Amino acid sequence: MNIDFDGKTLSDEHIFFRSAGSVNPVVDRAEGIYLYDVDGKRYIDGMGGVGVVSIGHNVPEIRDAAVAQMEKVCFAHPFHWKNMPHMELTERIARFAPEGMTKVFLCSGGSEANESAIKLARQYHVERGNTSKYKVISRWNSFHGNTIGTLASGGMRVRRDLFTPLLTDMPHIASCNCYHCPFGLEYPSCKIRCAHDLEAEILRTGPDNIAAFIAEPVVGAAGGGLIAPPEYYGIIREICDRYDILMIMDEVITGFGRTGKNFGIEHWGVTPDIICTGKGLSSGYTPLGAMIVHERVFEPFKSGRGFAHGYTFGGNPLSCAIGEAVLKYMEEHQLVGNVAALEGRFFEMGRELLELDIVGDVRGKGFFMGLEFVEDKSSRSPFAPSLNVAGRIADRCFKNGLIVGAGKGSIDGVNGDHINLAPPFTCTEADLAEIIAILRSSIEEVR
Ligand code: PLP
Repeated sequence: MNIDFDGKTLSDEHIFFRSAGSVNPVVDRAEGIYLYDVDGKRYIDGMGGVGVVSIGHNVPEIRDAAVAQMEKVCFAHPFHWKNMPHMELTERIARFAPEGMTKVFLCSGGSEANESAIKLARQYHVERGNTSKYKVISRWNSFHGNTIGTLASGGMRVRRDLFTPLLTDMPHIASCNCYHCPFGLEYPSCKIRCAHDLEAEILRTGPDNIAAFIAEPVVGAAGGGLIAPPEYYGIIREICDRYDILMIMDEVITGFGRTGKNFGIEHWGVTPDIICTGKGLSSGYTPLGAMIVHERVFEPFKSGRGFAHGYTFGGNPLSCAIGEAVLKYMEEHQLVGNVAALEGRFFEMGRELLELDIVGDVRGKGFFMGLEFVEDKSSRSPFAPSLNVAGRIADRCFKNGLIVGAGKGSIDGVNGDHINLAPPFTCTEADLAEIIAILRSSIEEVR
């Protein structure tokens, strides 16, 4: 397809993204919470891209920081050099992170951060003489990345199925999903069976084989804002400690403020061993990810061979300068506080959509909201995947000038379609109201 714009004719025929023939419009520019296509049409970035954009688009301070760093040095590898932005950013991340989590390994995104954590967990046990420990337990309805290692640990069947022969046999436990409890129970009489399922799986697989447990505090793409009961992560922490298993929190979406606290796990008052992040760390201004490690896990790496892992772009000065500018902006403008302050109103407005006959559940935390659509509210039964309900609603939102995320088809064939909202932290109450209003009319138009 040829596109004429700005005196140029461009073609999209060499872009290999999922499939050929995308009908997506061409983006021209972005400002604050808005993106504009080449015809000048405005879209609200209700999904922050894909749960990425936190401080808003086109912030001059970030551009200035990037230009200033480019005028000095863009690439100097940690093999040969220390660099100032690397030191500044890791120091700021350590300040942002829960107490004791002071060691920061940088990379280029969420999959790399999780892949690093899986390898770190393995090596941590080897360094302490437990050479049989390597498996990572995760949950169904989870997503930890699209590399082979993270896909094996993830639990999103629609993304795993095609690649199963490539995936090592990692154990999975039930997801934490109160709307469709995998055990057919109800909170609180369930006594948090889904958390205790971790211990059952450890005993089944053998504690000597297990290196770590990984989970998203609030499930993103794989579950549309699934959230655990208050007791859940305390139980998980105790079980991990009992069997010498590292607790990894995948905070690629929830990290750096999206839930109204610096990190999602803080809502449960629990300190994990490793936090993996990406997305909001750079607000999309550059590819950037981080693995944040507790001092006690770093201990065996202090001497000897160190961590046998690394990436070309980890700690490069340009990405670090941009990440540092983003987090500084976020702190100076108290954007995490804005999310916490507006969460109540956002969810109040979101829950009003439960009046609509196909909206079965509205859930999430902070500025991450998932809506699940059901064919029948009393039985909570999903629409047939072929109806592509969430996909059609997302397309209608797009036409109406709002970008949302869609779980197209049912979530792992179990839960039904969902839409995710993850707007920039700079949204005002009026912006959030506009997002919900467009979503409401789009749902009504598709019904
Ligand atoms: N973990 C979670 C929870 C995610 O949502 C994602 C991406 O959507 C990833 C990991 C993978 O991150 P990336 O696409 O930056 O590799």
